[in-house]
Amino acid sequence: MIFEIDGDKLVLTAPNSFTLRIVQERFLPEISKRALPFFSSPPQIELRIEKRAVKSNTKAVALATMESKPAPVAAKPAKSPNKLNPALVFDTFVTGKANQLAHAAAIQVAETPGVAYNPLFIYGGVGLGKTHLLQSIGNLVTKQNPQAKVCYIHATNYISGVVRAFQTKNFDEFKQFYNSLDLLLIDDIQFIADKPGTQQEFFYTLNSLIDTNKQVVITCDTFPKEISGIEPRLTSRFTCGLTVAIEPPGLEMRVAILLQKAAASGSPISEDVAFFIAKHVRSNIRELEGALNRIEAYARFHKRQISIELAKEALRDLLAAQNKQVSMENIQKTVADFYRIKIVDLLSKKRSRVIARPRQIAMTLARELTQLSLPEIGNAFGGRDHSTVLHACKTIESLRNADSALNADFNLLNQTLRG
Ligand code: ADP
Ligand code: MG
Repeated sequence: MIFEIDGDKLVLTAPNSFTLRIVQERFLPEISKRALPFFSSPPQIELRIEKRAVKSNTKAVALATMESKPAPVAAKPAKSPNKLNPALVFDTFVTGKANQLAHAAAIQVAETPGVAYNPLFIYGGVGLGKTHLLQSIGNLVTKQNPQAKVCYIHATNYISGVVRAFQTKNFDEFKQFYNSLDLLLIDDIQFIADKPGTQQEFFYTLNSLIDTNKQVVITCDTFPKEISGIEPRLTSRFTCGLTVAIEPPGLEMRVAILLQKAAASGSPISEDVAFFIAKHVRSNIRELEGALNRIEAYARFHKRQISIELAKEALRDLLAAQNKQVSMENIQKTVADFYRIKIVDLLSKKRSRVIARPRQIAMTLARELTQLSLPEIGNAFGGRDHSTVLHACKTIESLRNADSALNADFNLLNQTLRG
């Protein structure tokens, strides 16, 4: 049974029609009462049967929805931040260096909830797949154990719940609900910053769930210790399980994501086109999807095949805005300043590590951030060969995995240059 708050509605998703009927016949009044603290007025209760069960038992669904008088089934598949979205599963999650640790941890937690890492804390910038992973965990746990009590909630809705519990003085019920969960998935925890009441409540819930080996997974936009406005006892609790980062995907991974998404949407694109888009859309996966959608819509509208030419036209505005962006000079200057070396040294033949490493970093950044080809980049670094540039990129790539300080430097430079 999945409990979800969707606006002013409580959505109960049963694994099958049998469970649904039992709940409907015996537990609705009790559920209704217990749900009260989460809503400003008595909630509408909507009963659903989990999607995959629907196919084999459409009749039962129709019956169930007809019988649940106080709970008319919403016509629109309300896209609420509180729902377990069946589309967000591990199968559609492309992995690469940037997210493989987070992905592996998420799988392990979903397969052995409460056992492996508790809490699992996933952090990273916007649009990098945190919600996708969180939802994937919920979906897999529910699939493997339909009885599991799973709750996905966005931190802002958790805050509203606390506020309502204050207003209605129903804290016991509020606590009871969260303490009775098998899996709590809380998204974007940074929103509880500067909300001491919520933090206190969450601290108790977190402790209680962890102490009883119930799994908690938290996502956040920054490393726990860096969120300001959150009590230290809470941030230190965040890190007592496993903390993993999701990083912005590199070029090849962006290409892989585009190829997968295009194939999934039924209009596959060539690798050339994927590389073209990935070179221009670098910030995050959500924007990558946006660009692809735009290209697909453009192709459909003009009844043309997707080509680089067409992609250029469809993304015209985006490209125009970018042309003013990162130049080779800018990259070289920023890297030289950062490492306190001279630009002439960066371009020289000097091979000492203090110069060679920043040079390799600058080359890698140039490959990521500019449209220049490998020979052009080599040329801009004192007339080096394209294979030197490729070697530099590979070296930095593997160093970024092995050396977290270097990785942090690289990310910082990357962000600075992107502005
Ligand atoms: P976040 O919560 O970190 O802001 P989301 O999980 O909402 O990011 O991801 C943004 C979009 O990108 C979603 O549509 C998601 O499905 C997609 N996405 C993110 N990461 C991946 C991935 N590794 N593979 C495929 N799609 C992804
Ligand atoms: Mg998110």
